[in-house]
Amino acid sequence: MEDPVIIQKLEHREIKPTAMRILVLKTLLKQTYAISVNDLENILDRADRITLFRTLKTFEQHGLVHRIDDGTGVMKYALTREAYHSAPERFHIHFFCTQCEKTYCILNSAIPDFKLPVNFRMDDVSVVMKGICDNCNHQSRQKINASDKSAP
Ligand SMILES: [Zn+2]
Ligand SMILES: [Zn+2]
Repeated sequence: MEDPVIIQKLEHREIKPTAMRILVLKTLLKQTYAISVNDLENILDRADRITLFRTLKTFEQHGLVHRIDDGTGVMKYALTREAYHSAPERFHIHFFCTQCEKTYCILNSAIPDFKLPVNFRMDDVSVVMKGICDNCNHQSRQKINASDKSAP
């Protein structure tokens, strides 16, 4: 994606487009799964941890990314799609792959309408499903096929 488009995305969320923010957003746009500050630090080796953490915090405060607690104890971040600022799609399920330990946003699957006791108000909800992702499933199927062929 071109820089002017990235800058526009930042300005749309009222975030001042600094070089670091442009770089981080560009990286996030390339990810197909949620990433941690550590992951980001590994991808962008010129950036320091504190700056990356602050950048993600700013993005989160402005609704550009959302934070995911997938139960691993490490917070992960994913971009929030424009269309998802309105409920009910804003609250979506996350999928944690127990094999590659990647966490994905499952965007076309809204959280069901849970029944709450009287006077309880939901502000946020976190549903993390666990299992095997497409990628890992595919790899294990290939292994099975390979062993089938080698069988006498
Ligand atoms: Zn996986
Ligand atoms: Zn998500």
